[in-house]
Amino acid sequence: MDYSDFRSSTMHVNTPLEGKRICSENRDKYGRVIDYLRISITDRCNLRCIYCMPEEGVPKLSHSDILSYEEILRFVKVAVSLGISKIRVTGGEPLVRKDIVKFCHSLVEIAGAGNVSLTTNGVLLKQYAKSLYDVGIRRINISLDTLQRDRFLRITRKDFFDSVWEGIIAAYEAKFYPVKLNIVVMRGMNDDEIESLASLTFKYPFHVRFIEFMPFSEEKWAKMYVSSEEILNRLKRMGTLYPTKSKNSNGPAKYYSFVGSLGKIGIISPISHHFCKTCNRLRLTADGKLRTCLFSSQELDFKELLRSEKDDSVLAQRLLFALKNKPARHKLNEEVFRKCISRPMSKIGG
Ligand code: SAM
Ligand code: SF4
Repeated sequence: MDYSDFRSSTMHVNTPLEGKRICSENRDKYGRVIDYLRISITDRCNLRCIYCMPEEGVPKLSHSDILSYEEILRFVKVAVSLGISKIRVTGGEPLVRKDIVKFCHSLVEIAGAGNVSLTTNGVLLKQYAKSLYDVGIRRINISLDTLQRDRFLRITRKDFFDSVWEGIIAAYEAKFYPVKLNIVVMRGMNDDEIESLASLTFKYPFHVRFIEFMPFSEEKWAKMYVSSEEILNRLKRMGTLYPTKSKNSNGPAKYYSFVGSLGKIGIISPISHHFCKTCNRLRLTADGKLRTCLFSSQELDFKELLRSEKDDSVLAQRLLFALKNKPARHKLNEEVFRKCISRPMSKIGG
């Protein structure tokens, strides 16, 4: 079904919502329970990762294009009333947006402590870690593709390695658990650091997660792809690695531990083993579009509705329509679809 069919949908939702759970219909037409919302609160970023943004940045959305915090919170209240129970704040870089801590506090008030998490590049985390923890954020993902300062500069085009590392340590000291480190593995760029990054789990209780590089938009990136199988084989040569679970994660990562380590190793394979069958996610972009699949260019606009006088039941109806019609799966591992992604991650909210 195409989103243009929305007007002809006959779904009914009670009113008023006011954040109360009025409906438990958060199952899509393939039977998946959709309970996870990722919200990109900004398209702006203080890094320029080579796989995500051009050096000059991307044309910035104007302030009026971006959903206000009030608009996002209204959306979240409705989403929670429909059964969304986990929220992740992302971007762009979420910590560059003004009043981020207050906003996170409001989210926690709606979704409950422990149900709101954050993905950050860590540059400003030293400054925010404790206050984010104090308002009820407990889980944090930090991107760290390398442990080498000069390489960090090459990958992110900014010389902020030390700030990021200090941010990671600040999160650890603030008692975030788990602190998850996300590493995008790229051949010829950082794949020689798989072992040294994995070794962090012997020193810290971090979840070190290796993510298959998703070649966005241009074919030249495809040769940098390293499969999760190759990553795992490299890790197995380091020592005995046993499968384990992460009690805080029902997401797409497969977890392992080395004997004697404090942390865990996560492997995320969006390309080689797509996890569409169990995908429980929706994504709200900073400009108010809802994406039900990261790799589909189908978006449903909510900005206009959020700015209209229409009551929450109309919002809920549109949200349910999108949820029910979440695509069955992406086709990114089929060569022909590799070029299909219309927005970089910074604009979708990875
Ligand atoms: N700025 C924050 C950060 O970097 O963590 C949050 C947003 S960023 C878009 C979210 C995640 O998407 C990061 O972990 C980043 O490494 C990942 N990402 C971006 N582009 C990617 C790509 N082409 N392949 C795999 N992961 C990607
Ligand atoms: Fe910024 Fe995150 Fe994209 Fe890097 S991956 S440019 S930190 S939004």
